[in-house]
Amino acid sequence: MKKISLLIPCYNEEKSLSILYPELLKLMEANNQYDWELMFVNDGSTDGTMSELHRLRQQDKRVNYVDLSRYFGKEVAMLAGFDYVTGDCMVIIDADLQDPPSLIPEMIKYWEEGYEDVYARRKSRGKESWLRKRLSMQFYKLLQSSSRFDVLPNVGDFRLLDRCCINALKKLRESERYTKGMYSWIGFKKKEILFDRGDRIAGKSSWNYRQLFSLAIDGITSFTNLPLRISTVIGCLVSLFAFIYMLFVYVKALIWGDPVQGYPSMVMLILFLGGIQLLSLGIIGEYIGRIYNETKNRPDYLVREFNDERVDV
Ligand code: UDP
Ligand code: MG
Repeated sequence: MKKISLLIPCYNEEKSLSILYPELLKLMEANNQYDWELMFVNDGSTDGTMSELHRLRQQDKRVNYVDLSRYFGKEVAMLAGFDYVTGDCMVIIDADLQDPPSLIPEMIKYWEEGYEDVYARRKSRGKESWLRKRLSMQFYKLLQSSSRFDVLPNVGDFRLLDRCCINALKKLRESERYTKGMYSWIGFKKKEILFDRGDRIAGKSSWNYRQLFSLAIDGITSFTNLPLRISTVIGCLVSLFAFIYMLFVYVKALIWGDPVQGYPSMVMLILFLGGIQLLSLGIIGEYIGRIYNETKNRPDYLVREFNDERVDV
């Protein structure tokens, strides 16, 4: 019998879990030709998520959980899930039922036809602010035009991945993770299906603009060197301009002499060049910071407990 794992990252989802579980139960019962495994990853929740998971595991041994030692963020929580799931394929699904489980049988159908990565693209994004939608669209445009990989807009982590994709993702162990880029980096046979994204059933979205901004920077820096390239090009252009201007000032002084003047233009030049230098340094710094983090070679996450057992680090 083929085994299907559901990977559910949870951060403060106490209220959602009691609604999510019956839905998943229905799904598992309707598709009992498969072996099922639920893999919850508790991402350092501060509410009763863990006791809810203990309770669920007591009544159903298909419920598995990984309890991370602290908050690591969704990207890393998913990596922990990749390491722990044992299925022939895996579906990543949010705990808040914004990804409808009713779509999973269709994903499985395509998987049985031989597709290795069946992802769901949202036709609508549910209740999200206008600004957030716009920003996210601009971000994907930027990312798409600056890297060789097709990171698709309106596609989240809700997807079915074959074992070959899981194994591939497990090999990508960078600590600043941008998993959406990785799905496209690993390749394999992909299939798109469409769905309407609903609203959260309980709790609130745990992403604020600051986190989304930092995820966006991670996305850009981990998949493209374009910002570095841009600062090089700006550097070249400014140098060229400065050289021409230098000649101009020199020749002007030779012909007309040099009564000290030109304070405004000097200040402007100093500020302009200083600004560009700081900007470029900042960009380089972003990349160096990432190199620094990777060279520390720390484990990506630590686990406190896996299925009622403490994990020794
Ligand atoms: N999540 C997580 N760690 C985080 C943020 C979110 O494990 O730092 C989980 C969360 O519990 C949910 C899923 O990731 O199951 C999606 O989170 P959320 O609904 O907040 O994101 P959105 O739907 O707004 O993109
Ligand atoms: Mg959500």
